Amino acid sequence: MIETSTKMAYTFGGENTEGNATMKNLLGGKGANLAEMAAIGIPVPAGFTITTEVCNWVVGHDMAHPDGLEDQVREAITHTEKAMGGRIFGDSSNPLLLSVRSGARASMPGMMDTVLNIGLNDTTIQGLIEKSGSDRFAYDSYRRFVQMYGDVVLLVRDENHDPFEQLLEAKKEARGVELDTDLTAEDLKELVAEFKAMVKERTGADFPDDPMTQLWGAIDAVFQSWDNPRAWHYRRINSIPHDWGTAVNVQAMVFGNMGETCATGVAFTRDPSTGERRFYGEYLINAQGEDVVAGIRTPQPINISGKDPENPLSSMEEEFPQCYAELEAIYHKLEQHYKDMQDIEFTVEDNKLWMLQTRAGKRTGFAAVRIAAEMLEEGLIDEKTAVLRVDPNQLTQLLLPVFDRDAKTAAIADGRQLAKGLNAGPGAAAGTLVLSADEAVLRAEKGDKVILVRIETSPEDIQGMHVSQGILTSRGGMTSHAAVVARGMGKSCVAGCGALDIDYGAGTVKVAGRTLKEGDSISIDGMTGEVFEGSIPVRASEIVQVLIDEEMAPEESKIFQDFNRILTLAKGYATLGVRTNADSPLDSTVARKFGAEGIGLCRTEHMFFEEARIDAVREMIVAKDVEGRRGALEKILPMQQSDFEGIFRAMDGLPVTIRALDPPLHEFLPHGDAEITDLAGKMGVDAGELKSTVESLTESNPMLGHRGCRLGIVYPEITAMQARAILQAACVVAGEGVDVHPEIMIPLVGHVKELELQRKVVLETAEQVFEEMGRKVDYLIGTMIELPRAALTADEIAHEAEFFSFGTNDLTQTALGLSRDDAGRFLPFYVEQGIYEADPFGSLDQSGVGQLVRMGFEKGRATRSDLKVGICGEHGGDPKSVAFCHDVGLNYVSCSPYRVPVARLAAAHAALNQE
Ligand code: ADP
Ligand code: MG
Ligand code: MG
Repeated sequence: MIETSTKMAYTFGGENTEGNATMKNLLGGKGANLAEMAAIGIPVPAGFTITTEVCNWVVGHDMAHPDGLEDQVREAITHTEKAMGGRIFGDSSNPLLLSVRSGARASMPGMMDTVLNIGLNDTTIQGLIEKSGSDRFAYDSYRRFVQMYGDVVLLVRDENHDPFEQLLEAKKEARGVELDTDLTAEDLKELVAEFKAMVKERTGADFPDDPMTQLWGAIDAVFQSWDNPRAWHYRRINSIPHDWGTAVNVQAMVFGNMGETCATGVAFTRDPSTGERRFYGEYLINAQGEDVVAGIRTPQPINISGKDPENPLSSMEEEFPQCYAELEAIYHKLEQHYKDMQDIEFTVEDNKLWMLQTRAGKRTGFAAVRIAAEMLEEGLIDEKTAVLRVDPNQLTQLLLPVFDRDAKTAAIADGRQLAKGLNAGPGAAAGTLVLSADEAVLRAEKGDKVILVRIETSPEDIQGMHVSQGILTSRGGMTSHAAVVARGMGKSCVAGCGALDIDYGAGTVKVAGRTLKEGDSISIDGMTGEVFEGSIPVRASEIVQVLIDEEMAPEESKIFQDFNRILTLAKGYATLGVRTNADSPLDSTVARKFGAEGIGLCRTEHMFFEEARIDAVREMIVAKDVEGRRGALEKILPMQQSDFEGIFRAMDGLPVTIRALDPPLHEFLPHGDAEITDLAGKMGVDAGELKSTVESLTESNPMLGHRGCRLGIVYPEITAMQARAILQAACVVAGEGVDVHPEIMIPLVGHVKELELQRKVVLETAEQVFEEMGRKVDYLIGTMIELPRAALTADEIAHEAEFFSFGTNDLTQTALGLSRDDAGRFLPFYVEQGIYEADPFGSLDQSGVGQLVRMGFEKGRATRSDLKVGICGEHGGDPKSVAFCHDVGLNYVSCSPYRVPVARLAAAHAALNQE
């Protein structure tokens, strides 16, 4: 609700700063931080922020303005005019110019457009010329304004190119110059007229000259941009709610383009790629706005330490020593104040430094871990904060592959190294070279691995970037669109690789005397910036080399040490356990090294996918009678037993949950005549007869068919064999001194009687085995809760179960009535339309399936207070679902080995966020 009395605009700068950093929801990230900087005495051009509430109201009322908004804006302009020493908006002798900048709660790179130099027209420009003494500067600003306004507000734009840029290029060509800065005031003045004429021709209306009309046009355009398809798409990928709205920042312009005493730049207080503690940034002299990130000119380093030895452009530290010293002091102040790595934007107007933005810098997973560990070391943050600083999902990046060292050396020796760009997003990647986002999508749909190569990227390329292995650009710095977005997506990216000569028309990339074509293979290393011709094999990350392959000593790897520090701390805070889903001794070992506290799900049927074994299982399935089945089971038993022994040894001292056979029959039956004939031969039966047996077993709905414990109910000897294999293995390894804790799990139980019967089979078998082996081991019998009926009757089922494990894959399938095998065709539309916030098979549907989990847990514990309860299934490795499981009070989650670190960190976050 907005009333006339509602505060809709908050001022900052000058004498009166009304907002602060805690007001992000209302003022957006940019507005809240501008206010905060102004409040702690950092020079910020004055202005005001229109709230996100207003945006939501306007978007919800067909772009109408709430009563009182326009008055409040007028007052805020007066504040800005005073704060900026009496410059007046729309005045012809001392004009105030404004920028209009969007700023949502979460930063959305490239999604919202900024308009600079608002308030310029043929009259006010006279004041600007007089004040600056430079008509070239004034017309450069005017030309930028008409261009930006025409594009962002009046939507004069074409599919593949910017029509204003074309006129600009044409002008440069006509004048025989290369850089924008080489155009004269007269050239720029002509351009302004040409731009306006084009606007008139295309829109049928005159370009607005009235400053107030310009201002409201820009403000409304920001509101509207919240609703554009690109913004929707970005929010969907990043799970940002659509009802947050964006704030609008209106701010006095300061000019980085007023001559050689002016500049504009961006910087990170630490390296956003590696996390190294060094002040890092880029700037351009005599430039404005996005020049630095747009890759129009090659940016220069802000400091001497950042200079490229091969191309030593002079730094801000040398050119503007005083401003640089002040910038350094500000960056220290900001890091101390925010206690986090900052991404800052600044402008120097006539040797005076102004800060235009600060925010927590986006960083790679590598940088996140290193910065957290080092800020902890520096005493800037405490242990809890260090743990919370690392986004669990980002940890997967640290486990990403790098180039095989020998293959890379060979590639260098072969002269296949083509060029070196900026190391903008870590991870090595190899694939097919594509030159457009559309081509990337097309080829990726066919299953190709692609590397998207562009001069620079823009928001239109997002989908193409999403499906690529890596991104390579010829222009732009560490803060370019490509670099920022790639890091956000966790993709490998090499940016600003100037040696590439990309020709979209010809479909070629010329580099190092060679011509690569779309469709050739190419490899990039986002950690080093190297680009190679051909495909270089990739191998395990350093962490995997230290921890899993044990090919590198922990002391040799800084990133391993930082990773280990954060995860060790996480362990201290997590109360939810993390187990793994593993079907082999190897997977078990890997998961254990990543910190798994046992196995939550060992799927025995996965052991049978090997050629030699599958025949025995098929024989069992198609057996005509108990005798036939027993024969097949006897073949299977020793294979299973030896697998279990290996797993028990790998998990010495930890619990191992083994699920009784749950084969979806259709996956195991022989397909086609050849396979049937082959199997018939091996079984010594008639092929025709076997074929009709197979046909008789074919189900019309196998997911709801004769699977899970239903198999054991009809054929108890199958359950008996499995129990025997498990318990014999347990006795054998116990004899070797292994501390073994088997947990036998009966799948797909819907009725307590099913479990009662299966349990009896297991108990009887156990008695026999222990007697035969002359040894006893402790073991548990429990069940999966993966049918709604099981959750609804969990109190009854708990009488027969010593543990529960929620099989949330099947529980999602059965609760939503959504076949996992078929949902792919329509589920994306559901997510797109926001019916489900995320794919319910990837992130637990908390309000639906989550209720069954909660109910099952509570009912189970009501019957048996010491019931162990966990969850297995894809959701165990999803941080949001992990937080839910913590909240419900489960004992553990179980996920695939490489997700174990993610789940461990997510469990710690869940515990800390609850405090
Ligand atoms: P984004 O959200 O894409 O970073 P910004 O709103 O920060 O967009 O604007 C982009 C750039 O425009 C800034 O980095 C800055 O260089 C320039 N800019 C914005 N406002 C002003 C201003 N008041 N004075 C000078 N430059 C400005
Ligand atoms: Mg921008
Ligand atoms: Mg910015």
